[in-house]
Order: sequence, then structure tokens, then C-alpha cells
Amino acid sequence: MKFNFSAPTELLFGAGAISDNSGCFKRYGSKALVVTGRHSAKLCGALHDVTDTLDKENIAYRVFDQVENNPSIETVEMAAAQGAAFGAQMIVGIGGGSPIDAGKAVAVLCANPEMHAADLFLNRFKKALPLLAVPTTAGTGSEATPYSVLLVKDKETKLSFGSALTQPKCAFLDPRYTLKLGEAQTINTAVDAFTHAFEGYLARRSSPLSACLSLEAMRIFGECLPELEQRKFSGEMREKMLYASALGGVIIAQTGVTIAHGMGYCFTFFKGIPHGRANGLLMDAYIRLNRRDADCAKKIDKAAEVMGLDAAEAVSAAMRRLLGPAVTLTSDEAARYTKLTLMQKGSIANNPYPLDKAAIRGLWDTFRAD
Ligand code: ZN
Repeated sequence: MKFNFSAPTELLFGAGAISDNSGCFKRYGSKALVVTGRHSAKLCGALHDVTDTLDKENIAYRVFDQVENNPSIETVEMAAAQGAAFGAQMIVGIGGGSPIDAGKAVAVLCANPEMHAADLFLNRFKKALPLLAVPTTAGTGSEATPYSVLLVKDKETKLSFGSALTQPKCAFLDPRYTLKLGEAQTINTAVDAFTHAFEGYLARRSSPLSACLSLEAMRIFGECLPELEQRKFSGEMREKMLYASALGGVIIAQTGVTIAHGMGYCFTFFKGIPHGRANGLLMDAYIRLNRRDADCAKKIDKAAEVMGLDAAEAVSAAMRRLLGPAVTLTSDEAARYTKLTLMQKGSIANNPYPLDKAAIRGLWDTFRAD
């Protein structure tokens, strides 16, 4: 047995997490740039709780609220310019995965004003401002990972970067912020959290300790499945999913993701499919492929068992009930997506069943209608 496990983000969980732990902000300076999206952080009350607490702690702040879904490198450069002009000493990212991922990029760019955003992916930066994260969806787990995923238009995909420097210092997990999430967003983000636990469990970089967390996160997701399938979301389920989502972040911070995530970016870039939904639509093909490895097949059966499902096929069936029918692709699209998926070297190397170009093409071909 040989593994490293480091989960340095302080997770502050529960209603009132921000006001109850207001002293955390003061540790990181007296000027904050708040990075968020246009609406959701305002609607759910998270932005108000953050600015209220910053006021009480005498921390000056500016709000950059222009982060779009799947943030671009142009957006993070714009936010970083505002943060640098203000002299920000810390970044507070509020929102789903996008604003928190953008916050990580802004934290690096503010500390390295000479750097171009396109060079983030080289992962060679030596400093970053401290980042505090407030998730308002239950899925991404970005509040507990060093990873930032940004849209790179000229490469026609999403690319990621991250190091110990971009790991959030604190995550304020208040389930009340997730109460007003709409049906599709609730389901898509929950599926994302599940895929983090599941892919992390099957990943080559999985460890005995990360596997414990994966089984626990999948067990909780299994408890939430009936309400997710019926589209009836209780406060208790919201709280459980926020917990499972944070666990998913802790897991993939150790294990990385595998080929479902590596492929999902194509669905998001070309078809506009939200990240969690993209991964969920890939689960059936992903499970079939990875079951070819005998040890992995046993782990997939174990995952189904802890979720309260009777067989691995039931996992795919649950995804279909949550997400509806998959999209279809042409032969040309399958070829193009294969070429782009080959750029996702980390998730290819980490996949349990060995992957070459033909295997990846085979996965995309399962979606073909022609
Ligand atoms: Zn994900």
C-alpha cells in the first residue's frame, strides 16, 4: 500500500456557515475581490452573506459578477485586471463550478500580473492569492479541489490547471444556497457529484482512503436518487447532496478524473450540454468499457450495491431516468471528438481500462446514429 492524501481545504458546513465563521476572511487580508456569476449568487443569498460579513470584518471589496457558464480565459483576464487594480489580497469565489474555477485563475493572475491566462495551463506559476469558496450548487466539488477548468475557444475544448496554490483555503458550505436550484440544474449537478465519486473510485490513482470516501459519497447519492428521479427535492436531500458533492471534490483532488470527464468536454463545447449531464450521458458506454477489466467490474458492482441498486446495469438505467435519452452523433462528429479527447492525457492515463485511439473512437461510436 502506498499513497498520499492531502485535503487541506477547511470545510465549514451548515446553515450560517459564513456568518458563523466570519473570522476566516480576516486571516487573508483586508481587500477582497468577489468573483461570481450574474444572478445565482444574488438570488440564493450567498452574495449578500459574503458582503455583509466582509463589511462586519472591515474588509474592503469589489464584486466582479460577469463569470459565464464555462468561463473563458478572456473573462478571467478581465476579472484579474480589476482585482490587480484594486490591490486585492484574497479572492472569494461564489457560485457553481464556473465562478469558483474562474476564481482560481484570477487568484493566480492577480499574483502574477505579467502572466497571460493562456499560460495557466503550463502550471508553472509560483504564487497565487488565497481563495475562499462558496458553492451554490451541489455537484462540482470545486470548493475542495485545486482544479480550474476553463474554456479555450481556439483549442475547441476545456483545459484544466491547478496546484496546491489553487486549493481553496476555506469552503463555506451552506445548504440553504442550493434550495432554489431549478430541476435540471439540481439533477445535472447531482450527477456530476456522483461521477466524481464513481470515477474517483475506479481511477488508477484511487487509494484505500479515497475509496472510503467514494463509497460514502455514492451511498449518499443512492439515498438521494428516489427524490432526484421524482423531481421532488427536500431540504434534507439538498443538504445530503451538498455533502456528497464536497466529498466528491475531496476525492478527485486525490484521484483525478477519468475518461468520462475527458470526453464530456466535447459534449459541452459542441452541443452546449451542461457538464454534469455530459458526464452522465457517457456513463453507459463508460461502464461497459471499463467492465472489461475484471477488477474494475467488481468495483462497479460494489458501487451499484452501495447505491442500493441491484446491478451495474441499474446505474446506467438510473442515469437514463435522470437525464433522458442520449444525444446522437454523426460519423464526422465521432472522429472530431476522438481527436479532441486524445488531448485529455491525464484522464486517459488515469482510466482503469487502458485506452488507445481506437477505444476512444469506440466510445464515441456508441452515440452514432448514421
Ligand atoms: Zn465534474
